[in-house]
Amino acid sequence: MRIILILTIMLMFPIISVAQPETPIEQWKGKTILLIGAHPDDDVYSMGTLGLLQANGNEVYIAMLTTGNVGTQDPKLGMMDLALIRKQEEQDALAVMGIPGDHYINLGYDDGMLEYEHKKEVVSRLVRLIRKIAPDVIFAFDPGKGEQRWHKADHRTASYLAADAARAAMWPLLFQGQITMEGLKAHTVEEYVLFDSAEEDKNTWVDISGFEEKKIEALSKYVSQWSSGWYDYKGPDLSEEEAKEVRMRISKWLQYQDGKLMEGFRYYKGLPDNIGR
Ligand SMILES: [Zn+2]
Repeated sequence: MRIILILTIMLMFPIISVAQPETPIEQWKGKTILLIGAHPDDDVYSMGTLGLLQANGNEVYIAMLTTGNVGTQDPKLGMMDLALIRKQEEQDALAVMGIPGDHYINLGYDDGMLEYEHKKEVVSRLVRLIRKIAPDVIFAFDPGKGEQRWHKADHRTASYLAADAARAAMWPLLFQGQITMEGLKAHTVEEYVLFDSAEEDKNTWVDISGFEEKKIEALSKYVSQWSSGWYDYKGPDLSEEEAKEVRMRISKWLQYQDGKLMEGFRYYKGLPDNIGR
């Protein structure tokens, strides 16, 4: 009986120890954060937290894998038009959060096609980025806690690519040309803040109530995604009436707990190999 109890505690302990950050995210300082997403607006799940971290003296970098160049139902827009529109929207949204424009990186893949890209090439580029930026924390789509969970194809792909790249970045003999020829160092990331998790998988909630207005303002920059621009894009400026509607739509999408605006994540600490546990 006692052995069973000890075994149970031993088995439970690693799960308990990784379920919450030791220091609440609201109090993080001096960390380097790298978000890896698929499209230029995949930071909507964590925008308040990113703004809060930036304001608290952390360095925030955003890397999106695709240009978002098919995300429209407006027949007038071509892929290049949309890529440029969405680049500007992303930078405008980050500016609201005080995140410098040159902290936005886009790897330039085509929207909707990420799973068909050459995986080794994409991972290699992400590994280089991780070794250059040397983040303490990676923000990424939740791969689904060890289960295959339905995600939009690019999101599902980005979740695995981020985890695969984080795993590879720590091994000096993987992509070793980056080390021998480019002077980079192997880098281990031990903290992960995973977004767009299933509700029951979220284990960490960040109180972003001080950033409510900024979050709504930042998300409202994604005019091609949240407004009538989705069907008929007429430029970044909306009529006063529509701007109000968009802000209302965004407010309804946000998650509140006891009247406070919160962002929920699955936090994981440990070697990237175990990220799905
Ligand atoms: Zn997306």
